[in-house]
Amino acid sequence: MTSDDGRVPGRVFVVGLDGASFDLIAPWAAEGKLPTLARLMAEGSHGVLRSVIPPLTIPAWTSFLTGKTPGKHGLFSFLTHKPNSYDMTPFNASYLKSEDLGSILSRRGRKVGLINIPCTYPPKPLNGFVVTGLETPTRNSQFTHPVQLRQELIERFDYEVERTQKYSHGNEETFLKAVEDVEQKRLEAVLALMTEHDWSFFMVVFRGTDILSHAFWRFMDTGHPAHDSALAARYGDTILCHYQKMDDAIAQIMARLPEDATLLLMSDHGSGQMRRYLFLDNYFAQLGLLKLRTDIGSSFKYRLFQLGLTPKNVIALANKLGLRNLLRRLLPPSARLAVGQRFMLHRNVDWARTRAYPAFGLGQIYINLAGRQPLGPVQPGAEYEELVAYITDKIHELRDPDTGRPIAQRVWRREEIYGPDHVDEVPDLYVEWVNDEYADLGGIGYSGEIMSEANREMSGGHTMRGIFLAWGPHIKPGHTVEGACIVDVAPSILYLLDVPVPTDMDGVVLKEIFEDAFRHSRAIEFEEKGSRLGQEGEYVFSDDEQEAVEERLRNLGYIA
Ligand SMILES: [Zn+2]
Repeated sequence: MTSDDGRVPGRVFVVGLDGASFDLIAPWAAEGKLPTLARLMAEGSHGVLRSVIPPLTIPAWTSFLTGKTPGKHGLFSFLTHKPNSYDMTPFNASYLKSEDLGSILSRRGRKVGLINIPCTYPPKPLNGFVVTGLETPTRNSQFTHPVQLRQELIERFDYEVERTQKYSHGNEETFLKAVEDVEQKRLEAVLALMTEHDWSFFMVVFRGTDILSHAFWRFMDTGHPAHDSALAARYGDTILCHYQKMDDAIAQIMARLPEDATLLLMSDHGSGQMRRYLFLDNYFAQLGLLKLRTDIGSSFKYRLFQLGLTPKNVIALANKLGLRNLLRRLLPPSARLAVGQRFMLHRNVDWARTRAYPAFGLGQIYINLAGRQPLGPVQPGAEYEELVAYITDKIHELRDPDTGRPIAQRVWRREEIYGPDHVDEVPDLYVEWVNDEYADLGGIGYSGEIMSEANREMSGGHTMRGIFLAWGPHIKPGHTVEGACIVDVAPSILYLLDVPVPTDMDGVVLKEIFEDAFRHSRAIEFEEKGSRLGQEGEYVFSDDEQEAVEERLRNLGYIA
């Protein structure tokens, strides 16, 4: 059998486990608790997969899908500025500034099936099928290509992309059930579609490993400042049990894999302890970098804010009283949007006098630059450089109140991470936190503090250490891969499928994972710079869609 372009086809199946980490898997596998993963580690090649900076779900999965850094593919966070505005909007797939694996394989005549990859909404017409993932507004959105697949998934599997469910202290049982239900339905859909459809490249991302690590980490980790020994007796092994479910899911997928298929397991980033949240916006206000308007309306609101009436408190109270859904149903969409981070102070920022502000996205900072931002007062050149140096110093002064130790590992400039060739919208600075144990949940006016209490709602966070594992007829058994990056996976998949690698990918083929005989039988071929997608323009979310997406991101704890 040959494919449309006359080359020898192969098949690749990717199981994405969002946030999965060998820090958890390796000891559990060694103890015999994850038999499938233990077998795959022994029979395949595996190693830590370095994520992108910042190690966030959307930039990282998109870097996997394009083989490029977020500075190049353009989906560098969860939210981005609206054109010529300080207002933010969630990213969607139409913002992608690069060709991705699905498109490359489609134009080479390979059949693809993509299920639940974050930020693939709205779905592109590919040679095969697409079921979109995180940042899909709702179940009513057209989340599949072809169109009729959506109805089929709902009728046969009661399929859901994700459920709008927020973890808070006390609702462990219902939250866990919601997450596991959604993943079980996803598995059933995968097992059916992988046997009913013809494919060269099939991929599914399961998100439970990430969502449950965020919510349940403190029960497993006796060293977490919000560890609760009473609840730990009940939920201490919830994350392990979920990994065991995934271990079994992988076994079920393997039982249905064609013999010539290579199986890849990967994550977009790892998971680890999250000690505290920062509210860099408050720090910036204290330093005089971020200024609030002084007109009567905003100063009245600001007084309330200073008295402690912040959106965080209002939402916590509404949650406690069970009023949040009611509140939301009663409000028109425009007002509902305002319940979130724009409720108090975003509109009350004096942008013409604000010199720098934190972006949503865990430690990303914008300089309010003249000529780039609508009202930016900071001049490029010496003034910009001085400000960057000042902010860097001030970030390094931040200390953990428990330990007294600094919490920032390094403050990166965008060109240090992405090189000179990046889209202009990326933030100017990125804070890398010590051991990935902190995160900024900037949302202007969301909270009055600079640093949160020990975090109960989001006790697990993201680390740079994701997972990579390859298993199949051409893969070296028992090999440990060193130094693999998430951008290396796409070129490696193209090589396995005998498709030339576009020269503008940042990643390289992970040659060391292949059996020598296979490496000698097949050269790595390249094609001149992948063709950029036709710029059809950006898909703009309606207010309702934007609200639905932001609500989900907020429930996940990704934005304030
Ligand atoms: Zn993730």
